[in-house]
Amino acid sequence: MHRRGLPIGRIFGISIDLDYSWFLIVALLAWMLAVGYFPAQYRGWSTGEYWAMGIITAVLLFVSVLIHELAHSLVAKHYGIPVPRITLFLFGGVSQIGAEPPAPAVEFWIAIVGPLTSFALAALCWEIEPLLSVGPGLALAQYLAWINLFLGLFNLIPGFPLDGGRVLRSIVWRSTRSYHRATLIAGATGRFFGFLLIFWGVWTAFTGNIGNGIWIAIIGWFLESAASSYVQQETFRNLLEGHRVAEAMQRNFVQAPGEESLEELVEHDLAPAHATYAVVTRFGAPAGLVTVDAIREVPRQEWPMTPATQIMTPLDKLDTTQPNAILWSALEKMGRDGVDQLPVIDGNGVVGVLSREDIVHYLAGLRVLSA
Ligand SMILES: [Zn+2]
Repeated sequence: MHRRGLPIGRIFGISIDLDYSWFLIVALLAWMLAVGYFPAQYRGWSTGEYWAMGIITAVLLFVSVLIHELAHSLVAKHYGIPVPRITLFLFGGVSQIGAEPPAPAVEFWIAIVGPLTSFALAALCWEIEPLLSVGPGLALAQYLAWINLFLGLFNLIPGFPLDGGRVLRSIVWRSTRSYHRATLIAGATGRFFGFLLIFWGVWTAFTGNIGNGIWIAIIGWFLESAASSYVQQETFRNLLEGHRVAEAMQRNFVQAPGEESLEELVEHDLAPAHATYAVVTRFGAPAGLVTVDAIREVPRQEWPMTPATQIMTPLDKLDTTQPNAILWSALEKMGRDGVDQLPVIDGNGVVGVLSREDIVHYLAGLRVLSA
């Protein structure tokens, strides 16, 4: 998931980011606690105390989520998998773990440590509770104990991408020795539990508790859509497995001399070929890439005076790939870098260009052949 939020610091070399939806949920939680939960449970505090407690509790809840995510991240790093950042957002936290686990046991430990950490936090809050003689401190410890217990249990639901779903995947992966089958099974259970939560939420909403019902249904919908996008991605990965960039890349890409104006480039080269990019040459050798998106940023009336070299991205600044690179890795690279095409380079220079469109066409071809 590519969410970028507000970076607030680094722990163990991992950047901690707050997504903007985080502020919304903390404010909402603080409000619900300050005007609903605490006044109902504990009488006789002042309005200021209810609000202070609401805010402190909401923030500490997210600190609990952060500790849970840190546990995942530290185990991943222990196995040599990079973790650039943890993002806290509307539904909790997400650790951006840089690669799929290389073995079932690694996946098992990375996943299980999260709920175990939440249970440990719950036990800790439970233990310190009797030591806190002041009312609000006691209330805080009690609330955090319950919420961490709930977090641990909820995350153990055996549906991907929840921790329990990853545990399930690691077990199926180990017993079937097929990562592909394990992912599809864990994805299917993720969708099943997602639908279950949606139905439960709708039922709860219609039997009186509208707020809770909507919230449960939203979480269910989030789980279902995350699970189905993983299934889709895995189907895609499996189809492309074993195929190389050279098989899908475009060899007949548009090339244009760098001194050409944008006007000429569009009219003579791009439009007739229905192309969305061109490799720009200088002294006959490839020098950079110009995309239709980059041309559109130049005002129309300046097209005749602007040479292609002026707006091209030079080859040495571009991400590139090689003909024998794994096709799936090239696609992941495009996703990471947010680009739609990669020049394909070997010892002789640019031998092709790989675009997302090329991969889609290639896949369509594979489907026809395998049908
Ligand atoms: Zn987790």
